[in-house]
Amino acid sequence: MSEENTAKTPTVDPDLCIGCGLCVTTCADVFQLGDDGKSFVKDGSACANCNCQEAVDNCPAHAISWVEKEPQTN
Ligand code: SF4
Repeated sequence: MSEENTAKTPTVDPDLCIGCGLCVTTCADVFQLGDDGKSFVKDGSACANCNCQEAVDNCPAHAISWVEKEPQTN
């Protein structure tokens, strides 16, 4: 079920990120390097179309983790 994929979203801990850009290369629809040189998640739901687990596994700083998505409340 695809809903399982969308129940979690990746998040980057800016304190751990070293700005190597690997996650941006791996999942360009999801991650982006900010002006501070750190990666951030620009669209967590885009990971349904790519292989974000690879970005999570390959991050040299272990800065990416999965978090449960906030339930839609509106
Ligand atoms: S792979 Fe990890 S350390 Fe490299 S930019 Fe992405 S979050 Fe930062």
